[in-house]
Amino acid sequence: MANYKRLQVPKGEKITVANGQLKVPNKPIIAYLEGDGIGIDIWKPTRTVIDAAVKKAYGGQREIAWMEIYAGEKAQKVYGELLPEETFAAMREFLIGLKGPLTTPIGSGFRSLNVALRQVLDLYACIRPVKYMPGFPSPIKNPEIVDIVIFREAVEDIYAGIEWQSNSPEAKKLISFLSDNFKTKIDPASGVGIKPISPNGSKRLVRKAIQYALQYGRKHVTLVHKGNIMKYTEGAFMQWGYELAQAEFKDKAITTQELNEKYKGQIPTGKVVLNDYVADNMLQQLILRPGQFEVIAAPNLNGDYLSEVAAALVGGIGVAPGGNIGDYMALFEPTHGTAPLHAGKNDANPSSQILSACMMLDYMGWPEASAKIKTALEKTIQQKKVTYDLARQMQGATLLTSSAFGEAVAANL
Ligand code: NAP
Repeated sequence: MANYKRLQVPKGEKITVANGQLKVPNKPIIAYLEGDGIGIDIWKPTRTVIDAAVKKAYGGQREIAWMEIYAGEKAQKVYGELLPEETFAAMREFLIGLKGPLTTPIGSGFRSLNVALRQVLDLYACIRPVKYMPGFPSPIKNPEIVDIVIFREAVEDIYAGIEWQSNSPEAKKLISFLSDNFKTKIDPASGVGIKPISPNGSKRLVRKAIQYALQYGRKHVTLVHKGNIMKYTEGAFMQWGYELAQAEFKDKAITTQELNEKYKGQIPTGKVVLNDYVADNMLQQLILRPGQFEVIAAPNLNGDYLSEVAAALVGGIGVAPGGNIGDYMALFEPTHGTAPLHAGKNDANPSSQILSACMMLDYMGWPEASAKIKTALEKTIQQKKVTYDLARQMQGATLLTSSAFGEAVAANL
């Protein structure tokens, strides 16, 4: 076990990897990062619910040993820096974590702490399930048909943060290099950014999406790209996705053309159809016909837009969970940010954090506890016991604080 200066390692066991599989002991050490802003309001009710669900599901045989790690404002207080090395070391050692939202610092050297965490730990797949829960207010007529899992590439694309400000020496140098060598015509006062998308980065994401579809019996994996315009980045993402499917899932993944020509439109059991949509078309399809999408794989920026639009279909980002997953390491987090206007008021909705914890439990191979939480959450929403964000969209709701909402969910377990 590593020697930590400021982290307290609780009594418990490490999650390990053996033969390509996670090995989760009965009392695993799980890292948690409370987060900034409303992080403090949503973490406590989330922990109440998880601990109660694990106890109920496994009769006390299993338990999580929570280990606090730091990033953001709390890390600044504890370490005097926003992203301490011990946080990365603890994630590398204990592999699984649950985090709250983090404020994007202005002028601190970090573009975003979340992006830095994903990049340093190589958590390349940002996975966002979007599923309707009865009782949630939705802007569409048939939200119950929405059940989509979005795989958003998380470390490449323009999110890689390789960009320079207008009129900076770097931007000027790059613009004149491009002009001299490639005869490009760019206004010399432009800001410029680089959009790297690699074969390896694209293929490992699409691999995860297809594996997921096969494991959970989903029939379609849709690649979303803007390849008609950005041919060698977004277009290549699509092409590499098809290449990967052909090379590694030859007997399992088929194209739409194969589906029609070879299988007369009927998807054979055990197979998944790989198709693709251009991003702008996809955004309207997602609202008009969300039921036709099951698993989506997209580069970073498209995936960001798509996951917020999809979340809006089922009640908004206050209820949308997420997970950042690498080859084994995983850090689960709500889709929303720190909602500074609500920080410390004990009124924010913990549902997104609670559902992110459910993803974590599923990932650990503890689906019984996860299922109990989802059922209890659904029941609480149907009882119209909700936080302010949902109360304002419902008739006859009982308005609860964040902590009272956690207690209500725990009572419904
Ligand atoms: P935000 O924090 O997601 O909040 C925007 C609005 O969404 C809130 O004002 C609130 O709307 C609603 N909301 C979000 N979470 C909610 C919850 N749990 N319960 C109820 N309502 C919720 O977005 P932002 O204000 O643009 O960003 C604030 C900070 O968070 C920024 O520093 C941003 O960079 C950061 N951020 C972090 C993450 C992350 O850590 N993964 C993600 C996104 C943003 P109403 O006030 O209208 O009710």
